Amino acid sequence: MPFFSEVVLASWNAHKHRELSSLFAPLGFSLIFGPERLDLEVEEKGKTYAQNALLKATAWSQALGMPAVADDSGLEVEDLGWAPGLFSARVASSDTDRIAWLLDRLRGKEYRRARFVACIAFVWPEKVGTRVFLSEGICWGRIATEAAGSDGFGYDPVFIPDRYDATFAELGEELKSRISHRAIACRALRDMLEQPDMVKSLSVRSGETD
Ligand code: IMP
Repeated sequence: MPFFSEVVLASWNAHKHRELSSLFAPLGFSLIFGPERLDLEVEEKGKTYAQNALLKATAWSQALGMPAVADDSGLEVEDLGWAPGLFSARVASSDTDRIAWLLDRLRGKEYRRARFVACIAFVWPEKVGTRVFLSEGICWGRIATEAAGSDGFGYDPVFIPDRYDATFAELGEELKSRISHRAIACRALRDMLEQPDMVKSLSVRSGETD
């Protein structure tokens, strides 16, 4: 029995939709891209990734009366006091400008330790008894001295994960889907949701039997 037949992704980011659709595929539901169902902007006013992920997933789940998943994520650079962090999407208005912003700040610096962090919230709708699941994933690496590669999105062209000598944008989707912050958070969430007790509890709540 799939967990739910449809879950909405509370995001306007088509790249996140693509990544999360394949990461959640083993659970058997289709991950609907939010804007296909609703025009909803949620202000990211939380002070943590978890708060923002919860704000987004809860708002979309309530508005559509269906389960929702939201990801809040960011890039943290040690030498910049872990900036841009929560503000990763807000330091400039395009991916190219955000990368330029980052490379400018690290120009001439040798120490370029960094990590991607993702927090994923999965919210069940009221009709099956609201429940909330949260998970976090961290992927360590370093910032390249110049952008390279064309896969992925955001800061992928300048992030070199530990144990590799190329950026996420050069290494490609398949590798990213195994080692990224989002992949780690997603696996943790899948482990929670796949617990036999959880599956049973949902089938009882929704009146389904297998
Ligand atoms: P938000 O989670 O939509 O608030 O934005 C997160 C921002 O962090 C994105 O717009 C990207 O700039 C950056 N980011 C998060 N995850 C990734 C990733 O997997 N690759 C590259 N950049 C990312």
